[in-house]
Amino acid sequence: MKKVVVLGGGPAGSFAAERLASAGLDTVLIDEKLAWEKPCGGGLTFKAYNSYPYLLHNNAPKKVVTQTCLAAPKAGEVTMGLTQPLVIYSRRDLNGMLLDRAEKAGVQIEKTRVLELDRKSEGWLIRTRNGSLEADYCVVATGARNSLRNVGTQWTRSDTMYALGYYIPSEQDQIDIQFLPHLEGYIWVFPRYDHLSVGICGKGESAQSLRARLERYMDEKCIPYKGAAFYGHVLPSLETPAWRRNRVAGEGWVAVGDAAGLVDPITGEGLYYAMRSGDLASQVILNEQASLAEKVHAYCGLLRRDFAADLEFGATLAKRVFLGRFLFNTVPARMIHFMRRSPLFRELMQDLFAGTQSYIGLKKRLLKNLNGTMSEVLVNWFLRKVVPSENVLVEPQG
Ligand SMILES: Cc1cc2nc3c(=O)[nH]c(=O)nc-3n(C[C@H](O)[C@H](O)[C@H](O)COP(=O)(O)OP(=O)(O)OC[C@H]3O[C@@H](n4cnc5c(N)ncnc54)[C@H](O)[C@@H]3O)c2cc1C
Repeated sequence: MKKVVVLGGGPAGSFAAERLASAGLDTVLIDEKLAWEKPCGGGLTFKAYNSYPYLLHNNAPKKVVTQTCLAAPKAGEVTMGLTQPLVIYSRRDLNGMLLDRAEKAGVQIEKTRVLELDRKSEGWLIRTRNGSLEADYCVVATGARNSLRNVGTQWTRSDTMYALGYYIPSEQDQIDIQFLPHLEGYIWVFPRYDHLSVGICGKGESAQSLRARLERYMDEKCIPYKGAAFYGHVLPSLETPAWRRNRVAGEGWVAVGDAAGLVDPITGEGLYYAMRSGDLASQVILNEQASLAEKVHAYCGLLRRDFAADLEFGATLAKRVFLGRFLFNTVPARMIHFMRRSPLFRELMQDLFAGTQSYIGLKKRLLKNLNGTMSEVLVNWFLRKVVPSENVLVEPQG
């Protein structure tokens, strides 16, 4: 392996590139925008900055948030302190910080659009707006709108959700999360260091309708949005079948981050998985003993063991979490009720916010924490509705 080209310089691409260059590989990163305000909440969980502490310890502007308020129709709201804070960045700052690290590690950064990727007998020919270049290996990190059709995940409409919102020049200290009737998604208010990112994500509903829901909410909360910058993007939200056939690697390439569909189908968290997959991809590329075919297999296996099997299981829970009913009320309303009444349930929610509670481990935790009749009711409900079949952990196809 002489030269690796990383296509896309978001968190996934810049992370992978930094690792490869640090290990001495000739690494080129191509991005048409580089550090830009990619539509995003910008929230990083404890899981992310605990794995990669420089995400917390750096000079980039950021907001460390220690309190959240959750609300659902017919349940009111509940406020919870976060024992593990959420760190919120503007994406321009986060991308800039990660790209700087990549450049310092020796990555050659080029600002242009990648137009086409051609497989040659050995390696790749990459055509860009500025010309063309050759590479032995490609890391595909072009995000959810990957236009390179022969590499990366292939999804149908039902494997994505819309996410849109406003940047509001205002401030507050807590995160607000609002569940909505009949929506597989939610509204968030994320405070950043000098503004708020207020947005909505949802599956199976048009962008127009989501925007109307969001603006109704902002009107009710007296959040002024006239004249504020509006943003919108798609968010991968893979259904179970898509996880099973997910195309994350092939001969001479691996896909990372959104281009590989690696986003939590319940929370929409993608930043950690972008960086983590960049990390795993670099480990596989740097293994000089492995053939190209073995690299495909190794990457699929690493992803699955590290987090993809859990996200795949999360996909089986998503509809039930947002649209399900439990004890004559909606699940989000019941969550608020339990958070008010049960310290153990609040702890569980804390861990979900921190990213330290897996979806696969939820059933065991509910069994352990809740006792008596409520435990039986909950566990029976869980077993009846969402227990994973053996197939849930099938390895993604290369
Ligand atoms: C509205 C919204 C809110 C979100 N909020 C959160 C959140 O709070 N926390 C969280 O963890 N996740 C959140 N996510 C998800 C998160 O934004 C993504 O998972 C994350 O950005 C993925 O990183 P990436 O590097 O894979 O892709 P991206 O960040 O999308 O980066 C892809 C890069 O590739 C470049 N590119 C694409 N095509 C080409 C091309 N042909 N040539 C050259 N360059 C190209 C782009 O310019 C871009 O810089 C949110 C997503 C949305 C849409």
